[in-house]
Parts: sequence; structure tokens; C-alpha cells
Amino acid sequence: MKLLVTGGAGYIGSVVARMLLDNGHDVTVLDDLRTGHRAALAPEATHVDLPIHEAAQVLTPDAGFDGVLHFAALIAAGESMVRPELYWRNNTVGSLALIDAVRAAGVPRLVFSSTAAVYGNPLELPIPETAVKAPTNTYGATKLAVDMALTSEAIGHDLAAVSLRYFNVAGAYLRGDLAIGERHDPETHLIPIALEVAAGRRDKLQIFGDDYPTVDGTCVRDYIHVVDLARAHLLALTAAVPGRHRIYNLGNGNGFTNRQVVEVVREVTGEPVPVETAPRREGDPAELVASSALAREELGWVPEKPTLHDMVGDAWAFYRTHILEQR
Ligand code: UDP
Repeated sequence: MKLLVTGGAGYIGSVVARMLLDNGHDVTVLDDLRTGHRAALAPEATHVDLPIHEAAQVLTPDAGFDGVLHFAALIAAGESMVRPELYWRNNTVGSLALIDAVRAAGVPRLVFSSTAAVYGNPLELPIPETAVKAPTNTYGATKLAVDMALTSEAIGHDLAAVSLRYFNVAGAYLRGDLAIGERHDPETHLIPIALEVAAGRRDKLQIFGDDYPTVDGTCVRDYIHVVDLARAHLLALTAAVPGRHRIYNLGNGNGFTNRQVVEVVREVTGEPVPVETAPRREGDPAELVASSALAREELGWVPEKPTLHDMVGDAWAFYRTHILEQR
């Protein structure tokens, strides 16, 4: 298939772009490199340096794209509470412009990066796709708005749409000399920050809140390996059906508290990782754990690296070889 990958220089988008190329697809990456990295771009892909608002310049009717995988977004839940306008404009308005371009060009399918953050504080655990959607942060709200637009687009214009609701993504794609991992600036995510502490690049990790209603008072998240997540995108592309919007949660169904995550980082790295308790981060749901039964059933998705030790081990291998050694 001829595919456009928005955000293909980011963490997840660049892993998926590689896998699509490995599977014989023709890949064009649309990424303005605002938060993505040139080094993460697959050399075999065509790179277009444009924001998603201008996707119509690439998605022309005669370009013959068979599908779009839409990753490009702002993703920091904490920041989304402080600068909500950036998130609405970039994530929601930008995605609506992309959907317009998809329709105008007659592109038949679209796979969208949605998020567990759409559920807010869930009433049922593990969370099925049918659970109440009540996001507690702006990030989740901006993604839910796009999910709803895609449902309408599928019905109204026969788009084959799939939303994949990611829980917490971790790990790295390691293949020979190639390693793609998480690299945000500034870094806001728990595992990469804990690795920075383990590597001696930061003094300590702040744990945001220890008075949540969980086993040790810290938030619970469900972690999924970036390679397992990427594989789900390839399955989704072929499972997409015109006129339908399919939605799948992707996680492992195991919850880890923030303190438990830090403990795994200590075990994997052999370093102490000092922590201190800090106030809650605005907008954080207490507990997010996925039911991915539907993805298993309808996509035939089976995670190959479900353990947190595997994810942290791969993230640490990437961090040591590609971040520490290159400074
Ligand atoms: N977190 C933390 N300290 C940090 C970064 C994150 O305690 O320096 C917590 C955060 O409040 C949340 C969990 O770790 O409870 C996962 O946050 P992350 O930003 O990694 O992912 P999110 O769940 O927001 O997508």
C-alpha cells in the first residue's frame, strides 16, 4: 500500500514507519520535526516537512494514497492542562484538517492514535472500549473529539477508520545497529525520566501524588511495548472496513503503580533511583488498565513482549547506546 505516516519522526510513528517499510509498503512521512527527530526518519521513506494542517499539499487526489496513519500530536497530559489551546489547535483542529484532506483526495482508510486518557477515571477495570468516556485532562479530550469525528466520517463518507487507544507505551525497537526509543525534550514520561535518574543525569525522580486510592497511593498504569503496539497498526490497516470506525484498546491488562515502575527500573539498571513525593499532577486519572480482548479477537493481536522488565530493559539498552554514548 502507499501510505502517509504523520508524525513518522516521533517515537511510535518512526517504529511503525520502519515496520511498514519492512513489510513492503511505500511510506511517505509527514513531520515538521517540531518534536520529532531527523535521526528517527527511515532513510527508505519519503520525508515531507509540513505540519498536519497542510497535509492537503501531499494528499492530492492523483497521489494515489491507500491510507493514512495519523500519529502527529502533542502528547504531554500535564502540559495539556497548562496550555490547553495548543492541544485543541494541534490535536483536534489539525486532525480535522487532515480528515478534510483525506476526504478530498479519496483516501480510503485512516488509522488514528487515540489514547486511554479518553476514559478519565474509569468506572470499570480493566477498561473495555464501551466504558464511559470522561477525560480528566485536555489531552484526552482533544483525542476523544477526533475519535468522534472519525465515527461521523466513516458513516457520512464511507471512510475505513480505526482508532487505537494506547495505554502507556514503553520500550524501544532494537534491530541490529538500529535502535529507536523514547526521546522527548523536555522528557515528561515516567520510565525515561527514571532511566535518566538511573544514569546519573538527574538527581531524583519526583512521584506526582501518593494519596490516590491505589495499593501504594501512586497512580496505576498499564504498559505496552512499542513493538507490540506497532504491530497492531499493521493489523488495523488490513482490518479496516469502509463505512466503519473500529476502536481498540491496546495494553497488557496489568497495572503497575508508579512506585512499582521505579522498582523495576532499579532492578533492570542496578542503580538506586532516588525518589521524592511531589504534589499530584493536574488531570491524572488514578488508574488506567486496559481490556484488549477486542483487539485480540478482531485483529488477532497477541503481544510478544508483555512484561515490564522487557520494556524497561529495551528502553535502557536504547538509552545507554543512543543517548548516553552520543553526548
Ligand atoms: N509521573 C511521575 N513523575 C514523573 C513523570 C510521571 O510521577 O516525573 C507519573 C504521572 O503523574 C502518571 C504516571 O507517572 O501518574 C505516568 O505518567 P506519564 O507522563 O509517563 O504517562 P501518562 O499516563 O500521563 O500518559
